[in-house]
Amino acid sequence: MRASLGGKHVSGAERLVGEPLLQETVLELLRRPTSFDQMVLTVEKVEEVSLIETSLPISSRTFESVADARGFALKLLTDSGVPPRTAERGLRLLAEGAGPGGSVMRGAVLMDVETAGRLEEDPQRGVRTVRVDWKNRRAIERTLRERGMTSRTVDALALATKNILCGVVAELCWSDDPDYTTGYVASGKVGYVRIDPLKERGDPKGGRIYFIRKQDLPTLVECLEKRAFLIESLPD
Ligand code: AMP
Repeated sequence: MRASLGGKHVSGAERLVGEPLLQETVLELLRRPTSFDQMVLTVEKVEEVSLIETSLPISSRTFESVADARGFALKLLTDSGVPPRTAERGLRLLAEGAGPGGSVMRGAVLMDVETAGRLEEDPQRGVRTVRVDWKNRRAIERTLRERGMTSRTVDALALATKNILCGVVAELCWSDDPDYTTGYVASGKVGYVRIDPLKERGDPKGGRIYFIRKQDLPTLVECLEKRAFLIESLPD
C-alpha cells in the first residue's frame, strides 16, 4: 500500500500473509494513514516463500550528541568489514541527502565496500527491499512494544534481516521523518543496533545505505526485490 496527500507520499506498508488473512489485512492497510487523498493497494500472489528462523538480534545505544552517535555507527560499520573511508562516505551521503540535488531517495543506495562507488541504477529510486514479513506480526509487535519499541522497528528489523540474508555486508539507516532521530546499523557481525540520535530533531534528511560487494550485485538485487521471506521469531 502507498498513500499520498496533495501529491506527497504519507504512508506505505507491505504485508505477506496467507489467503485467509487477505481481507482483514487489506482493511488494516486501508485504515493505516490518518489522512490521504490517494491510495494505491496492490495484491499479488507469491508462489514461493522461504522461512527465516530468527531475526537479527536487537540492541540499543543512546548518545549525548549526533556526532557521538555517528562516531559509534562508524565503528560498528568498520567492525562489520566496511573500510573506514567507505563508511565515512556513507554517513556523509545520508546526512547530505543521497538523491539527486540532496533529495531523499525512495529506496536504498548500494555502495561498493571496496571503492565507495555507488552501484544502484537509478539514484532517485535506489533499490527497494520488498517481500519480507513476520509469520506472526501481532506477537512480534506486542513483544517489541513491551520492550519500548514501535511498529517502525517491526518493519525495519524485518527489512534489515532480509538484507543481511541476501548478502548485504552492512546497512546504515536513519529515517527522513524530521521527528524520528533513532537510526540503526545492521550486519551479521553486530546484529541490529538501534542508535539515537543519528540526526538532529527537525532534520528532513534520511535514507538507507546498503554496503555490498560489487561481485554480488546481480544476485543481491534479485534477492532483495524478488525472493519472499517470512521471519518466524525474535532471538531469545
Ligand atoms: P523510513 O525508515 O521508512 O523513514 O525510510 C527511510 C529511508 O529508507 C527512505 O527515505 C528511503 O530512502 C529508504 N527506504 C524506505 N523503505 C525502503 C525499502 N523498502 N527498501 C529500501 N529502502 C527503503
